[in-house]
Order: sequence, then structure tokens, then C-alpha cells
Amino acid sequence: MNFIFLGAPGAGKGTMAEVLSKKKNIPAISTGNIIRSALKSGTEMGLRAKVYTESGKLVPDEIVIGIIQERLARPDCKNGFILDGFPRTIPQAEALDKMGVVIDRVIDLEVSEQMIMTRLSGRRVCEKCGASYHLVNKKPKVEGRCDLCGGTLIQRKDDQPETIKARLKIYHEQTEPLKGYYEKQGKLCKVQGYNRVSDTTKAVFEAIEA
Ligand code: AMP
Repeated sequence: MNFIFLGAPGAGKGTMAEVLSKKKNIPAISTGNIIRSALKSGTEMGLRAKVYTESGKLVPDEIVIGIIQERLARPDCKNGFILDGFPRTIPQAEALDKMGVVIDRVIDLEVSEQMIMTRLSGRRVCEKCGASYHLVNKKPKVEGRCDLCGGTLIQRKDDQPETIKARLKIYHEQTEPLKGYYEKQGKLCKVQGYNRVSDTTKAVFEAIEA
């Protein structure tokens, strides 16, 4: 099956995509992670995306659509996949439809704006492997170091308070309309996001198995 996780920045899409990926044994594809790793290795695509991503803006549709087209063509997607952070605009959703990609379920993770601010401002990520932590809710075993690879934990440039506000505004304007788009297609499942990963996981599995 093919899934999409929708939701505001900080709603927990990445965490839930990873949980579902392990359970279903299909890849979780995060356009944000692909862009960040292109940025780090200084590829042409990374350089084109840099100015947008670091200021919290959306990368132009044609760039992300190209990234997804290439990623979905890989053999590991043939039994299904999970999209985390794509589509984020109506033209991106239309591009998926035009590619003939069939989406089975769209899971919309709903959390309060206050929870989002707390989560994003306390989020720290591993510079090396991208694993995600939180200063209060998900502390690493050793302060400032990744449990998985020992890499240094940093704050994403786009997790600074002013940039978070810009990202939320863009989310409301450009991404939220996707709920209606997928509701019309009968694919939208609304799921409440909780503080505890185990609670949200339970709600997601109940929704997709319903
Ligand atoms: P994320 O890790 O999903 O929050 O994505 C981080 C940043 O990457 C976003 O703020 C955008 O600048 C860029 N990005 C990721 N996915 C998309 C997308 N589908 N459309 C446009 N920009 C994206």
C-alpha cells in the first residue's frame, strides 16, 4: 500500500512514517531529508534548494516533483511506500496523480499549534544521520550526542522561532488545502497526534486498519 502523512511541521510525520515503515517493511520517503542531505553534500539540487529551505519557504514544485519522481522509480518502492512531507501543495498532489501513482491512504496528523511550537523549538537532530531528539521529550543518552551514531546534535536552521512561524503560515496557506483534495478522493484519515509516540502510533494503526 502507498501512504501519505500530512500535517503541520512538527506534527510527528517523520516519526510516524518511520514507525509505519518498520511495521510494513516499505520505505519512508522524506523530501526534507533528501533535500538536507543534498545540501550537505553540496549537489546542484542542494544549492538550488538552500535559500528556500533555510528560510522556511517551500522549495519550488518542479524541484521536489523531480526528486519524488526519481525516488519512486527505485525498486524498493514496488511493494509500497510512505511519503513524509510530500505533497505540500496542490500542484504537487496533482503531479502524483498525473504520474499514475495510486495513493491508498492519507493520514492527517492533527496537533495544536502550541504543541508544535514546543516540539519544534526543542527539536535537535543528528548532524550525521538525521535522527531526531527533543530537549525535554526525547533526550539522548549522552547530552548533545546521537544515540545511534555518536554524531553531534544540532538545531535545524529552520527550527528557530521566527522561521517556525513562517513555516506554519505557509502550511496553512499551501498545504492545508490538501486535506480537502484527498477528502474528495475518499482517502483522508484524520488522526489525533499525542505527546507520547506510543499513543499516536496506536491511533495511526487503528485508522489505517479501519
Ligand atoms: P521537512 O523536513 O519535511 O520539514 O522539510 C524541510 C524543508 O524542506 C521545508 O521547509 C522545505 O523548505 C523543504 N521541503 C520538503 N518537502 C517539500 C515539499 N514537498 N515541497 C516544497 N518544499 C519541501
